[in-house]
Amino acid sequence: MEEDRAPSRAGGLVRLHNTLGRRIVDYAPLETGHYRLYTCGPTVYNVVHIGNLRTFVFEDVLRRHLLARGDRVTQVMNLTDVDDKTIRGAQEAGVSLTEFTAKYVDAFFRDIARLNVDPAERYPKATDHVPEMIDIIHRLQERGHTYESEGSVYFRIATFPEYGKLSGIDLKQTRRGERVADDEYEKEDVKDFALWKAAKPGETSWPSPWGEGRPGWHVECSAMSMKYLGEHFDIHTGAVDNIFPHHENEIAQSEGATGHRFVEVWLHAEHLVVDGEKMSKSKGNFYTLDDVLARRDDPAAVRYLLLSVPYRKKLNFTWETLAGAAAAVERIRSAAVRISEVVSAGTPAKPGAFPAEQRAALFRSEFASGMDDDLNTPEALAALFNFLRQVNAAIDEGSLDSDGARVAEGALGFADRVLGVLPKAPEVLPAEIEERIFARNDARRRRDFAEADRIRDELSARGIVLEDTPGGTRWKKASAV
Ligand code: AMP
Ligand code: ZN
Repeated sequence: MEEDRAPSRAGGLVRLHNTLGRRIVDYAPLETGHYRLYTCGPTVYNVVHIGNLRTFVFEDVLRRHLLARGDRVTQVMNLTDVDDKTIRGAQEAGVSLTEFTAKYVDAFFRDIARLNVDPAERYPKATDHVPEMIDIIHRLQERGHTYESEGSVYFRIATFPEYGKLSGIDLKQTRRGERVADDEYEKEDVKDFALWKAAKPGETSWPSPWGEGRPGWHVECSAMSMKYLGEHFDIHTGAVDNIFPHHENEIAQSEGATGHRFVEVWLHAEHLVVDGEKMSKSKGNFYTLDDVLARRDDPAAVRYLLLSVPYRKKLNFTWETLAGAAAAVERIRSAAVRISEVVSAGTPAKPGAFPAEQRAALFRSEFASGMDDDLNTPEALAALFNFLRQVNAAIDEGSLDSDGARVAEGALGFADRVLGVLPKAPEVLPAEIEERIFARNDARRRRDFAEADRIRDELSARGIVLEDTPGGTRWKKASAV
């Protein structure tokens, strides 16, 4: 697939729904043409489920869209490898925390790679950043936001009048001085929360000015985001369950420590649900990527399903919707194959040819403006299918010439830089190639060298290179030569 760069819209505005203030904003990054993006990563106490993957794919689509506009992106995704759940898991398994989390870190990278999620610039681990967390707690202490109790340190929410500005919780409900030590809790439990937790017997711990202990989950993300993106950056994302308490607490800690604004735009993906219920590891109603691929071995279809529903709408996972996604991907793939056949065929231009330049330009601008509108993927996909319908009709009636096909290929490549559902190399089936090699050998036996050369050229145009060796004819993809 020929990849084509969009005319750069770098530095322009992207329309996004900011959870902070619950409104649509037309956003330009703090540094022109460069987005600094923090995406909350997995808690590595289990393999991720397809709900988590929905959020990771949404973040990948955001990243790819910003890059496709011609902007630069620095994305950081943390790995939560110490919190209540990882510690409990390691204790139950009777292994060290590092040994316990390592296999889930590997599984996470394998899963996102299978869904064609592009790697972030950095994947910091919480356990490698404890000194940075201690530093933030220090700063909070100096500014009067904390108190200690039995070797633990808590954030006193009454010292941060803006507490609640992200989630809109009602602070009147809270009783001064009530505190919560758990990493996760519900809105009904809005309370002072733990920044540092005194070590319990048998738990992994680190030395600190307050004694042996470990960081609270929320301070991990404040420390790792500010270390790599600066104390004021553009976009912070997660799913809606992160809004309270995790992101509310991140704002309180970061702004409490620095005295200024932390993040400009907060984006939150709605949940993936099964039978109307949030898919979650603790409820046990979840599918992993392996579970899904065991029934339908088509990662591109899973990716398509996850991205095809606007990120702010709930996505109800069913096998039927997955089948629909697979059919949609197949339509895109088969159009790509047909277009590349016209490119290879060398069909000359003739009067009345399909106006590829003009149609492709219109399609690109519709696709881009759909994506610029708070990542409206259904609108972008509608533009794509409309364009493919026109191109398919032109191929059917023989009005697409090879130059036009090259333009269409470029436009499809442009859309797929964001969608990421097409195979990277042109799709050629090994059996089909073997059949052509057999026909060529047959021609050579008949001493029909013209035909043999013709078949070699035909394969070469499809990116396949033949090598005649004493052991027979071998083939490889041109890019690998
Ligand atoms: P966790 O590993 O629990 O920290 O979650 C990793 C990411 O997945 C976080 O951004 C969560 O908000 C998100 N997440 C958790 N459950 C779901 C779900 N059912 N649908 C979409 N995203 C989810
Ligand atoms: Zn986080």
